[in-house]
Amino acid sequence: MKNEPVRSEAVGISEEILRKWEAKGVSRRDFIKFCTTMTATLALPLTFAPKIAAALEDKRLPVIWVEYQSCSGDSEAFLRANQPTAAEIILDIISLEYAEVVMAAAGHQAEKSKWDAMEKYKGKYLLIVEGSIPTGEGGVYCTVGGESAVESAKKLIKNAAATITVGTCASYGGLPAAAPNPTTAVGVRDLVPGATIVNLPGCPVNADNLTATLVHFLTFGKLPAVDAIGRPKFAYGKRIHDNCERRAHFDAGQYAESFDDAGHRQGHCLYKLGCKGPEAFHNCPTIRYNEGLSWPVMAGHGCIGCASPGFWDTMSPFYRRLPQVPGFGVEATADKIGLGLVGATAAAFAVHGVASAFRKGDAMESDKVKVEE
Ligand code: SF4
Repeated sequence: MKNEPVRSEAVGISEEILRKWEAKGVSRRDFIKFCTTMTATLALPLTFAPKIAAALEDKRLPVIWVEYQSCSGDSEAFLRANQPTAAEIILDIISLEYAEVVMAAAGHQAEKSKWDAMEKYKGKYLLIVEGSIPTGEGGVYCTVGGESAVESAKKLIKNAAATITVGTCASYGGLPAAAPNPTTAVGVRDLVPGATIVNLPGCPVNADNLTATLVHFLTFGKLPAVDAIGRPKFAYGKRIHDNCERRAHFDAGQYAESFDDAGHRQGHCLYKLGCKGPEAFHNCPTIRYNEGLSWPVMAGHGCIGCASPGFWDTMSPFYRRLPQVPGFGVEATADKIGLGLVGATAAAFAVHGVASAFRKGDAMESDKVKVEE
């Protein structure tokens, strides 16, 4: 692969930069692919590829990655990133100063390296937070090195250049914050209101979105533009339902009725099996997972709205269909309608009841999409 001819002039990345990456073991083809993928993910014109390539050269962004109330799913997702590999990102783009899942140090030695890094790179490092923060009972439900997550997170956020939350737990509380929320778990933005934060919710975070956010910070020196709930618009600006490959079947009234029927085998819409795509905002259908191989709806399972605030309470029961689908089109944005929809989901279930909400008469109302029983 390394020796295959590549038309680098097509994207304008200099030979000098390509040769440097080749010397580090990254083929010119892979590096060009990485830069063009990043421009596409960030919704930038291809002409930004040379700017991104130049920004990545010789830069080592200090990063501290902390984990609180979580399952480590976001760390796992990042370590399995293959575009480029996590090792390439860690070694060549960022300087990972502290990350419990991958570091060799443990105990007091690890704690010391975290606080040393905070002092050394004060105001310059990026903080990545994984997991929610339990605030109940003075924060006793999660302590690291004898210090509560509440106190630790506040210090690290205050001294960081910016904070990225990975996963829905760190962004909005996620599963630990689901009713009855026994630990009074919150997301980072609720712990430190007004801090410079970008939220990358999802269960887990899509590693490509995290990589793109890091690349944006390196290239432009700031976090990407966000929506009303702190999510980058490049990744959460579009409704899943509007980019779904099963959408034509939804519009045609072709639905899978069970996970083993003919409609399911033929790729029909999963709406009646509980898909929350009409109320969820994420770029899953366009960037997918595992090098763009697939995503849940493509694999045959409905979206569960895992990147939404209030997940899981607002999106469960997962296999019960939404009581109504507003009739807006692809021009709809998360800023305009996302907040209202998220809050409305659970309430709509409670108020209407699933059976009554789908009476044919209801579905014929002008502001709803027609759904057959
Ligand atoms: S309801 Fe779900 S499966 Fe059907 S088109 Fe919308 S996002 Fe796709």
